[in-house]
Amino acid sequence: MFLALLGLGCASLGPAPLERHRPVVWASKGEVLLVRCRWPDGARLRVSAPLDSEPVMAALRAWNRAGLPIRLVPEAPGAGPDPTDPERPEPHIAIRFVEQLEDRSGRGRKGEADVDCTRRADGGFGLAQAEVRLARSGRDVLGRPVPHDGAALAGVALHEIGHALGFAGHLPGARDEPMDPAFDTLDRLGGRALRGEPVSSKALRALYAQPSGRVVARRALEPWQTRQLDHLVERAREEGWKGPYLRMGDAGAAIWWAAGETPVVVRVANPEATLADPSEVLWIPDAEARRRLRSSP
Ligand SMILES: [Zn+2]
Repeated sequence: MFLALLGLGCASLGPAPLERHRPVVWASKGEVLLVRCRWPDGARLRVSAPLDSEPVMAALRAWNRAGLPIRLVPEAPGAGPDPTDPERPEPHIAIRFVEQLEDRSGRGRKGEADVDCTRRADGGFGLAQAEVRLARSGRDVLGRPVPHDGAALAGVALHEIGHALGFAGHLPGARDEPMDPAFDTLDRLGGRALRGEPVSSKALRALYAQPSGRVVARRALEPWQTRQLDHLVERAREEGWKGPYLRMGDAGAAIWWAAGETPVVVRVANPEATLADPSEVLWIPDAEARRRLRSSP
């Protein structure tokens, strides 16, 4: 996945639910916003998933009993358009297994999620799509593959689905919290999910207690500071690109569009500084975005 570097990795420190949530960054016409995105109340979310994986199914069932105002509806990969919503050919959330996921430690990470918020035509914000990847195996100290057991898979699936539901960030040390990235917590919660127990998440309850698309910060910028983005928004409208998608991960933040073969990506150069004070935001258009800007009329 081309934006894998922006994926939500699973290691960090800290306390209280929404303080630990990392909002997405949006900017246009001389203004920058930080926004919390989630799925709308009452959403029935199509989840493309390996239906024969008991750990994944157990994690989905556990989230469906977590008291959130959404429903996860699993379907086989490639199920096609929803007859009740033919406008939406893709599932909302895609979950798939990969053999291994690399990380800097060389031991392999167990799961990762790419989660995109979007700015709708009416100016509101909400989640648009998420992809979860789960590793079948990790590596031992000698680098040999070691398969993850069912409880570990269910636990990591719980955690990554929590990201896919909109919680960008972690709640380390919180009791029985699936957004705690600690593997022993996740193994325990995964074991419970396999026994049919629901999951309870302070993190997700806090997020879903707020309206969808809440703007948590808004700052004025100089008009030139959003000029490139404003141009891309214009091009996107003229040429029918899909997006804009707003992504926040541990390793970065970006605004991007699906525009044919190559995505058009504008990265936030300084995500930590931007989350602390959005008026500090700096943008780095990638090569495709620069090409599109140059060919702009
Ligand atoms: Zn995580």
